[in-house]
Amino acid sequence: MRIVLMGMPGAGKGTQAARLVGESGSLHLSTGDILREAVQSGATLGRKVRGFLDSGALVPDDVMGDLIAERLGRADAAEGFILDGFPRTLPQVATLDSVLERLGVGLDRVFFLGAPETEIVRRLTGRRVCPNCGALFHLEQRPPSSAGVCDECGSALVQRPDDTESVIRERLRVFNEQTLPIADAYRQRGLLREVDATGGPQEVFGRLRQELGRD
Ligand code: AMP
Repeated sequence: MRIVLMGMPGAGKGTQAARLVGESGSLHLSTGDILREAVQSGATLGRKVRGFLDSGALVPDDVMGDLIAERLGRADAAEGFILDGFPRTLPQVATLDSVLERLGVGLDRVFFLGAPETEIVRRLTGRRVCPNCGALFHLEQRPPSSAGVCDECGSALVQRPDDTESVIRERLRVFNEQTLPIADAYRQRGLLREVDATGGPQEVFGRLRQELGRD
């Protein structure tokens, strides 16, 4: 399977990608995770992109294009992938087209996870992540058994620096302005499937599976 998962920040892309990967064995490629790791490790890429991530702005298309071309060209992407967070602009759609053409493969589906903005803000402000193993929690919906501690590996949970309310507002503005138009591009190609992302993760995953089984 070669799938793009798109949707507002907080729509559940990361959560659903992890479930799809569990089921299909495809590679999960989250550009947000790759960039955050680069920032944390102090890599050259990280130094270049940190300011964009902290302010909720998009990293420039040329940087993202190089990153995705390199990542999709690796052997572990050959059998399939779930792209989470890429593409996010129309130029990135064109870049992905040319990378896939070069590799001689095509996309199977583009899923658009949709949820109301009030729900998104509630999800993001309550989100806590494990910096060690990547496990995701929510203060109300999925609290860890012991406050502030990861259930999986015992590390201290953190709030992503871009999950504060002012940065969330900026990320939503950027989404509506730059990312929403790509849904139309994929709709015109007949690849887009809109999936209701309200409710619990299992409920949303059920809808995704239904869409996948429909073909
Ligand atoms: P995410 O974890 O997908 O919400 O991404 C976090 C941040 O990483 C975004 O707010 C952007 O600053 C950056 N980012 C991730 N993916 C992309 C992309 N495809 N294009 C530009 N910036 C990106």
